[in-house]
Amino acid sequence: MSSERVVIVGGGHGGFQMAASLRSEGFSGGITLIGEEPGLPYQRPPLSKAFLKDGDAARLHFRPQAFFETNNIELIPGTRVSRIDPARKHVTTATGDAIGYDHLVLATGSRNVRPPVANLHLDNVLTLRNLADAADLRARLSGARHVLVIGGGFIGMEFAAVAADFGVAVTVIEGAGRLMARTVSGAVSKHFLALHEGRGTTVRLGRFVSELIDDGTGRVAGVRLADGTRIDGDMVLIAAGVTPNSELASEAGLAVSDGIDVDEFLRTSDPAISALGDCCNFPDPVSGNRVRLESVQAATDHARAIARRLTGKPAPYAAVPWFWSDQSHFKLQIAGLGSGADEQVALEPESGGLVVINFASGRLLSVETVNSASAHMSARRLLASGRPVAQADLAAHNYNLVDYARAV
Ligand SMILES: Cc1cc2nc3c(=O)[nH]c(=O)nc-3n(C[C@H](O)[C@H](O)[C@H](O)COP(=O)(O)OP(=O)(O)OC[C@H]3O[C@@H](n4cnc5c(N)ncnc54)[C@H](O)[C@@H]3O)c2cc1C
Repeated sequence: MSSERVVIVGGGHGGFQMAASLRSEGFSGGITLIGEEPGLPYQRPPLSKAFLKDGDAARLHFRPQAFFETNNIELIPGTRVSRIDPARKHVTTATGDAIGYDHLVLATGSRNVRPPVANLHLDNVLTLRNLADAADLRARLSGARHVLVIGGGFIGMEFAAVAADFGVAVTVIEGAGRLMARTVSGAVSKHFLALHEGRGTTVRLGRFVSELIDDGTGRVAGVRLADGTRIDGDMVLIAAGVTPNSELASEAGLAVSDGIDVDEFLRTSDPAISALGDCCNFPDPVSGNRVRLESVQAATDHARAIARRLTGKPAPYAAVPWFWSDQSHFKLQIAGLGSGADEQVALEPESGGLVVINFASGRLLSVETVNSASAHMSARRLLASGRPVAQADLAAHNYNLVDYARAV
């Protein structure tokens, strides 16, 4: 489709990678990248980590403006796409412009959930998804005395770690019985609970916030829990998870469940439209279950797979999912998806850190590591090989993933 036009909606991780990969795969047709955020596409993970400390926004850009000109990528920032017309093959922007496509890629990501809590409108109640949010959070953090974080997932805990570094008192309130429960094992949750508590952060597990308290001037003064307990604080971060931006797709009649449904080639129910990253729901090649992942790796690997397909090299998406989270001087890395694990081996290597190996029916399923990059890389290699790894074989190597990966 070298003379055709690919339009990409969403200029985040997946959208940017989509445009870049199309060119690196040799696509010579038109590429239009439309994003509702202003400016050049940028990396999101540092927003809850380094950016909160250094405030250096220029360092976040994937590529300078010249990259888009050199690669003949039409970048349209600050523009929201409000409608897709699949029959006429065009999208309409919020300002009413119609842009035609031969192939459309939806890379609209996800947005933060607003939990059912009263008074979310109060001043100094913040969320974190984009650069503008992070800049606001950073500016207000230096004036805060006690930050309350609603949600003990990756972003809430990364922010809690940075806030503690600023010398601000931090209380995290999490509805589940353990931290990051959606993505990590109990052993890893426990490890990070000890880490954060050891740094002076208060963590309230199994508690729900029902109301934010007004100080009488419209500014937040604390939270009230469902059990009536009041916790004082002068700043609140809502980090209660995300929901996929799939409305554009559903309004256009595409199949949508938890995200935009795609097949193993990342095609939506309309073959002229693909979807990737946070907004899409795809079949996991290992378990066969449909999943939606919120990770840079998934978004970029999806984009690469679509680019290969659109340039005549189709292959089902089969990358091993992996994730990371930096909290203080602890790096959590996860290779593979752990849901369905029926057995687990947790090790504390002499070098420090933690390695948790998850098995299903005696086979390696996923590996969670803390400050153990070599074990993480070995796990990724083993999982990517496609060869099943038997628990008994790993046990024969004392569950040393690096040794085992070298041996096979
Ligand atoms: C603070 C923070 C920290 C994170 N840390 C990590 C991490 O450490 N590791 C990791 O793997 N992942 C991390 N993530 C998640 C990761 O950033 C996402 O999974 C990844 O960005 C998904 O890429 P995407 O292209 O699907 O969506 P996004 O990067 O979110 O991009 C979607 C873009 O589409 C735009 N858009 C939406 N609707 C429209 C429309 N109708 N018209 C035009 N544009 C539209 C949005 O404004 C947005 O810019 C973090 C996320 C956040 C917010």
